[in-house]
Amino acid sequence: MKLAPYRKKSPWILHFNAGGCNGCDIEILACLGPKYDIERFGMINTGNPKQSDVLLITGPVTKRTRERLVEIYAQMPEPKVVISCGACACTGGVFRGMYNCEGGVDQFIPVDVYVCGCGTRPEQIIDGVVQALGILEKKTRAMEESVRLKKEALKEGEQINRRHVAGEIKPALT
Ligand code: SF4
Repeated sequence: MKLAPYRKKSPWILHFNAGGCNGCDIEILACLGPKYDIERFGMINTGNPKQSDVLLITGPVTKRTRERLVEIYAQMPEPKVVISCGACACTGGVFRGMYNCEGGVDQFIPVDVYVCGCGTRPEQIIDGVVQALGILEKKTRAMEESVRLKKEALKEGEQINRRHVAGEIKPALT
C-alpha cells in the first residue's frame, strides 16, 4: 500500500449515510477504533461540510437524501474528494431498482474513489482513504499552481498598464 505524500494540514472527513443499512457505517466506526486507528493518516472525523476535505458516503442515494447530498457536496470547499463506500454507494447495491432508491452516488456528484464490498471491510476502507489522500494532494497542487499562474498573469497585466500610463508603450495605429 503506497502512502499519500505529506500534507500541510490534516484532511477532515465528513461521513454521510445516504440511505444504507448501517452495515458499512459499522465498518467505518471500526476504522476509527484503536484496532485500525484511521486517524494515524492524519484524518479527523468531523460533522461540518464547510471544514471537510473528504466526503465518505455509505448507502444508496434515496429520494429523501438526494438534495441533501448535493447540498453537502456544494458546501465543501475546494479541493475535495469523494469516496463511495460499499456496493450501495457505488451502484445502489441491493437497493437498486427499489421505489425510493435513486442509484449510486456518482449519478449526482463526482466520485473520486470507489470502495466495493457489502459490507466493506475496514482494510478496504483504509485503502480507499489512502487513495483519496493521494488524489487530494494532487488536486491541492493543481489548485496552488492555478492560483500562482493567475497571480503572475495579473502582475504582468499591471506592469503593461503601468507602462501604457507612463507612455512607454504606444497604442498600435490601425
Ligand atoms: S453495501 Fe451492504 S452493508 Fe453497506 S449499506 Fe449497502 S447493504 Fe448495507
